[in-house]
Amino acid sequence: MSKFNKTPFTVSVWDLMHVPGELRERQLDIIVPEKMGEGLVAVQAGATLEIDARLESLHDGILATVRVDTEASGECGRCLREIELPVRVEFAELFAYSLDEAFDYEVQADHIDLEPLIRDAVVLALPFQPVCRPDCPGLDPVTGERLEDLPERAPQEEFDSRWSALTGLLSPSGSGAHAETLPEASTDTATDGATPSASPTEREKS
Ligand SMILES: [Zn+2]
Repeated sequence: MSKFNKTPFTVSVWDLMHVPGELRERQLDIIVPEKMGEGLVAVQAGATLEIDARLESLHDGILATVRVDTEASGECGRCLREIELPVRVEFAELFAYSLDEAFDYEVQADHIDLEPLIRDAVVLALPFQPVCRPDCPGLDPVTGERLEDLPERAPQEEFDSRWSALTGLLSPSGSGAHAETLPEASTDTATDGATPSASPTEREKS
């Protein structure tokens, strides 16, 4: 039988034991003693777990219904920017008075230990590929710079062929060769769409 150690995660249930139907609610704020999670984001040591626990006395033991709110931090999987994510997990588990094959957890010395359950639930809830926002553009594969920090660059690369078409049409010297390689359709579009014609050319030169 494992030795019982009192920790911030252990909750006394002595007043609930063997009085089926008794109910008690407990709010706990626990400072995370060691990091939870090994991925890009984790609940760091020192973070606070806000715990709402509903403890109910049953014939077999104590049913703990627990909600945990906390915050994970780490880095965006695409742009490596530091991010913080709210984490909420909920679970219910019975702590039996005596262990048998039906139950994994046991009331020990009039206490229940929520730590393994909270740790498992929190770690499972952490995203494998966290992002700072759903449409994070990530890093430039060549330079490693954050595309978000380079608002001029991102669209320019995306529409590269069209910009070269415009360049070819608008500057008679220099990049005329590009225009020849383009299909006629692109040329028409470029001529009709008057609005973007000036700015991309300037951008290319600058
Ligand atoms: Zn990002």
